[in-house]
Amino acid sequence: MTNILVCGAGGFIGGHLVADLRGRGNQIRAVDSKPPEEWYQRFADVDNLQLELRDLHDCERAVRGCDWVYNLAADMGGMGFIELNKGLCMLSVLINTHLLMAARKFGVQRFFYSSSACVYNADKQRDPNVAALKEEDAYPAMPEDGYGWEKLFSERMCRHFREDFGLQTRIARYHNVYGPYGTYEGGREKAPAAICRKIIAAKLSGEHEIEIWGTGEQTRSFQFITDCVRGTQMLMESDFVDPINLGSSELVTINHLVDIVEDIAGFTVRRRYNLTAPQGVNGRNSDNTLIKQIFGWEPDTRLRDGMELTYRWIFDQMANREAGAKPLALHSV
Ligand code: NAD
Repeated sequence: MTNILVCGAGGFIGGHLVADLRGRGNQIRAVDSKPPEEWYQRFADVDNLQLELRDLHDCERAVRGCDWVYNLAADMGGMGFIELNKGLCMLSVLINTHLLMAARKFGVQRFFYSSSACVYNADKQRDPNVAALKEEDAYPAMPEDGYGWEKLFSERMCRHFREDFGLQTRIARYHNVYGPYGTYEGGREKAPAAICRKIIAAKLSGEHEIEIWGTGEQTRSFQFITDCVRGTQMLMESDFVDPINLGSSELVTINHLVDIVEDIAGFTVRRRYNLTAPQGVNGRNSDNTLIKQIFGWEPDTRLRDGMELTYRWIFDQMANREAGAKPLALHSV
């Protein structure tokens, strides 16, 4: 049995990771700064702790006694959040730094860091007809301002703790992750959840118009949560130490993503394009040559299939709330 710490366990990916790790017979400590009642998924057979991981003392409390650490904790959100909260995003550097220091102090065997496609050089993402991003495209560095700089810096902290102190670090560059039990309202949600929410709201209200940020011609790839968790575990269990893309290579425009959700909903909307809203880079895709070479696998859930599950979950949350019932958001076992 391995003692495992999951940081950011009250959030979207951290919650799914805890759910997966439980099934493998591990002893798990789940930590988040939010009160456990607000976590997306919470399990009674897990040591659930509310701690502030920007604080070194709390990191030491979290890490003590653990063999493996997964750091999924960050102050983050979709484009609407990271473009307007660069200082807050950069403060997450304290979380990873203090977790690495605590991990070194307590002799942790393995440390996972969740980096992001936002580390890639902005110059490589100006055209919607993108060339997919390869791992080496992060340098020379010109990442997303704020959030991307923090991620790139923290990647290097992991590398130097490995090289200088022998801490075994693993780094995945996640490309947009989506799925049930994640944020779909409040300003931190990302495009797949936001589009589901807007179309569901239109359907429930009978109002047929929704707002799209930008021209809708921006391109992205979206990775379903089960692929993200699977790839994270493959990486953590491997000897591969460099940052690696973990994302889907199924490229779509935002307009096409709206088409998919309309089809799932059986409901068509008028699209009002807000050209002044935050919209991020024009195009971004994941080059999966390296992950296929190392693991013989890449995230392969079809977007249509993953969106169907995501839409159903968000629909249930919203319909349930509209009916005046208690929220279904928490998965508490
Ligand atoms: P999330 O916001 O759902 O989860 C992050 C969790 O970290 C939240 O529950 C939050 O309360 C917690 N947290 C924030 N500050 C904290 C602190 N100081 N102490 C303790 N807990 C704190 O985000 P997510 O989508 O699950 O993302 C997880 C990780 O993956 C993050 O590092 C994120 O940057 C990275 N990532 C996510 C995506 C994506 O598409 N979701 C893409 C690239 C990278």
